[in-house]
Amino acid sequence: MKFEVTILGSSSATPIFNRNPTSQVLNINERLYLIDCGEGTQQQMLRFDIKASRIDHIFISHLHGDHYLGLVGLLSSMHLNGRKKALKLVCPVQLKEIIDLQLRYSDTELQFPVEYIFTNAQQSEVVINNSDVVVETIPLDHRIACTGFLFKEKKRLRKLIKEKIESIDIPVAYYSVLKKGGDYTDEKGKVYKNEELTIDSAEPKTYAYCSDTMYNENYFGQIANATLLYHEATFLNDMLDRAVITHHTTALQAGEIALKTNAKKLLIGHFSARYKTLNELLDEAKINFPSTELAIEGKTFFLE
Ligand SMILES: [Zn+2]
Ligand SMILES: [Zn+2]
Repeated sequence: MKFEVTILGSSSATPIFNRNPTSQVLNINERLYLIDCGEGTQQQMLRFDIKASRIDHIFISHLHGDHYLGLVGLLSSMHLNGRKKALKLVCPVQLKEIIDLQLRYSDTELQFPVEYIFTNAQQSEVVINNSDVVVETIPLDHRIACTGFLFKEKKRLRKLIKEKIESIDIPVAYYSVLKKGGDYTDEKGKVYKNEELTIDSAEPKTYAYCSDTMYNENYFGQIANATLLYHEATFLNDMLDRAVITHHTTALQAGEIALKTNAKKLLIGHFSARYKTLNELLDEAKINFPSTELAIEGKTFFLE
């Protein structure tokens, strides 16, 4: 099953030349999930060939502008392009008021339903649960209410061992039973154990999106063992005081968090505009966690 993330924006606070505010798009089994929608996200989608019509879920972590100021523009374009199907919007409760106000004063009534699912920054909750994935909020520690999102792939059905199935001549009608773990009994009463006929599917993968937050061990348990951990790394560690005041994380800390939570791979982003190049941030995160990559815009990372 496809499970990958494409970075659309990696800058914090303000856009700078060649970096846009935060946005990412997850592709899970060909369904697109947009996470945060900073200013310029639509342009980035055009640039990297992400079709808005394929997005049915949008997640907004918090109401600092660098995470949602592109949203009303995107909703307007969906409306103008004739969208009719519903859109699920997972976000802080106040965002509805902001959107309603902007639409009201432009005399716009969206031609498609928006189904709001409000986040609670105090406790983790399941916000989406479909055939591919369960999404939980991750309560973070930021200056205003903020949640990350944990995407947990659903366990797939067992895989049939084709040669074995064919050699015993099992009727096709039994395949779904076998995939769910059932045994097979033939006409003579001989029982074939499920383990002889199928193999387990791959372990489900998880993507932990830790938006703006300062270092706080409260969320470590929830994000443990992520296949891919995205964590903000706004500053280098020589700016730790500033990181604490603004409730952000340093690259050194991001590496430490990946290490302590046993992530398989770390992706850092949300870089301060003060850094014209990013190598120092990458090198610093790698001190604690060598398997780290930069959330470079336009780049796609596969969960494997
Ligand atoms: Zn931010
Ligand atoms: Zn913020």
